[in-house]
Amino acid sequence: MDKATLLHYLVQASYFAAAVLFILGIKRMSSPVTARSGIQWAGIGMLVATVATFFHGNIANVLLMVLAIGISTVFAWVSGKKVAMTDMPQMVALYNGMGGGSAAAIGAAALIGASTGTGLHVLSKAQIALAVIGALIGSISFTGSLIAFAKLQGWMDKTFRFSGQQLVNGLFFLSALGLGLSLVFQLNTSVVIGFFAVSLLFGVLMTLPIGGADMPVVISLYNAFTGLAVAFEGYVQGNVALIIAGTVVGAAGTLLTRLMAKAMNRSISNVLFSNFGGGGGGSTEIAGSQKAVEASDAASMLYMAEKVIIVPGYGMAVAQAQHKIWELSQQLIKRDKQVKFAIHPVAGRMPGHMNVLLAEAGVPYDLIADMEDINPEFSTCDVAIVIGANDVVNPVAKTDKSSPIYGMPILDVINARQVIVIKRGKGAGFAGIENALFYAENCRMLYADGQEAANRLIAELKAIDSGGGH
Ligand code: NDP
Repeated sequence: MDKATLLHYLVQASYFAAAVLFILGIKRMSSPVTARSGIQWAGIGMLVATVATFFHGNIANVLLMVLAIGISTVFAWVSGKKVAMTDMPQMVALYNGMGGGSAAAIGAAALIGASTGTGLHVLSKAQIALAVIGALIGSISFTGSLIAFAKLQGWMDKTFRFSGQQLVNGLFFLSALGLGLSLVFQLNTSVVIGFFAVSLLFGVLMTLPIGGADMPVVISLYNAFTGLAVAFEGYVQGNVALIIAGTVVGAAGTLLTRLMAKAMNRSISNVLFSNFGGGGGGSTEIAGSQKAVEASDAASMLYMAEKVIIVPGYGMAVAQAQHKIWELSQQLIKRDKQVKFAIHPVAGRMPGHMNVLLAEAGVPYDLIADMEDINPEFSTCDVAIVIGANDVVNPVAKTDKSSPIYGMPILDVINARQVIVIKRGKGAGFAGIENALFYAENCRMLYADGQEAANRLIAELKAIDSGGGH
């Protein structure tokens, strides 16, 4: 066997090893116990695939590649070290967008190379078609994820609507498809550029109207898109590692999208065909007023209760109150109260956000219940404590057709005998709307930072024991 053939086999074997590491890594990510090592395995797979590519033979611009890898490694390392847990979703959206953008860039290089005759290899019609599909999906995922990033970061309005938006979006999508199709029959550099411009713009337009309850679905949808785009471009390049990595991400992302869509009561076609957010966004006036409560009175309510359900939300993550909330729960359990945690599938800012925080604080899994299981239990619970949750407990999702979260399943906290809501003030949730729960007769507002409120409740409970409370 000559040296070139040996090198070829070594590179292919490395790609295979990388693909196996990706699959095993993703498998390990399915449990919180093994998730950290899963990330490391997948990372090693990525390193193996990157190094192998330099020995591929058929590559150009090595210096540019090294420069790009150097810059992005420094950027990813520094931003990964610095990012706060609550900013993780933005970061995921950004990195996901970069993946989609890279797949689109591979498609662009292949198509421009083929149309100008400067490409690394000649493309068949089937390869051009695959490059076009990958580039379209990758471009949408790239600009769509950037808009999602800007929305999550608070840089732009959650929803941006104008009249005839669906028609405009439809026209852009059809134009991108038409231009892409024409490339399969006749490659032309100007058409390639036009195709990319329209596809990138479509990603922006598609994401602009999405707000409120649909954001989590869309983020996981773009994650699936990125995987698919990478897989398509992998076929064009004949690169096994890209095909397998892309397919795995595409499949995992598709499953997650289905789960999130089901949790949010949206069909995927509804999400895909841009009926985002349902209604117009306005909410009907809510009668009554918010009734504040002191920590001492809230602690008395807890002291008298037999069954307490705790509902964590994004605010608990901001306050990093999970440890204190678990300490409060332990104080209640010590006093023979039954305590459970209720998790909404999109509480927080990423799938599984609350589960991760509660696991970090050491809350046993058997105290944590999913929405469907816990909802019937609210009517039998004496006190529900809502800590930093807002949208996921908002009853207007069931009652107000004009609300942007109408149709989203919620935790039926309002059915509890008494509700204590811990939040800092009158700030709205992610969807930016009023919450009817906060005005309900059985609801009391404990205005404070999540951690501080939990601390005060613990102190007041202890004070009641020692006879100091009322
Ligand atoms: P929300 O974002 O609806 O509400 C969070 C509440 O926490 C706010 O009203 C805020 O009120 C309060 N808060 C903020 N900081 C603190 C603090 N330090 N201490 C106490 N309270 C605080 O949270 P939910 O979890 O109920 O809902 C999640 C929302 O995010 C849903 O609309 C979901 O669709 C969306 N989303 C979810 C994603 C996911 O994958 N899970 C991804 C993207 C979006 P105040 O300012 O008054 O304190």
